[in-house]
This record gives sequence, structure tokens and C-alpha cells, in this order.
Amino acid sequence: MKFYPKQSVCPHCGTIYRYSDLNPLKWKKQTVCYHCQKTIRVSRKSLWILFAELVLLYVLTNVIAINVFHAVMLLPLFIMNVVPGVAAVILVPFYLELKK
Ligand SMILES: [Zn+2]
Repeated sequence: MKFYPKQSVCPHCGTIYRYSDLNPLKWKKQTVCYHCQKTIRVSRKSLWILFAELVLLYVLTNVIAINVFHAVMLLPLFIMNVVPGVAAVILVPFYLELKK
């Protein structure tokens, strides 16, 4: 389980998978290591942690926003809710786990 964005490594040979290597694996169940040619399973379990972190961030930022702004202002609320969402989508490959 990953609690923060982290690069994955091949469970067989330890090859580091960079963002550009992990990004196409988002929709795959398994892949073949480009270094040792062994089969790797792609686990998405840690995406639940990313989701939980996103929800927590949303709750915190919106509670703070309500207390700071005292009135509903749509633009700051929109930015505060869209930016973490986009960031989470960008971070998805870092939360994938490679398993044997
Ligand atoms: Zn490998």
C-alpha cells in the first residue's frame, strides 16, 4: 500500500518504472517487464488510499474555506476543488503497484 506518490519497481529485477512507464499501465491488469521479460501484475489497491486522501483534502479545504471566506465565492471554491482532483488524476500512476 502506498500512502504517498512513489515510483514502482519490478518485483523480479528491481528495475525502476518511471512515470512514463507507469502511465500506460493504468488500464492494464498485467504487463511484461521491459528489462527481465517476466510477467508483472498491476495492483490498483493503493488507489483507494489516494481517493481517501483526496476526500480528506476536500473536507479540510472546504471547511477552512467556509470559515475564512464567510460567504460563498464560486471561483475560489471551484479552483480549490478542481486543482486537487486534477492533481490526483496526474498522480494515479505513482499509486500503481507492481506485483509478482
Ligand atoms: Zn524486471
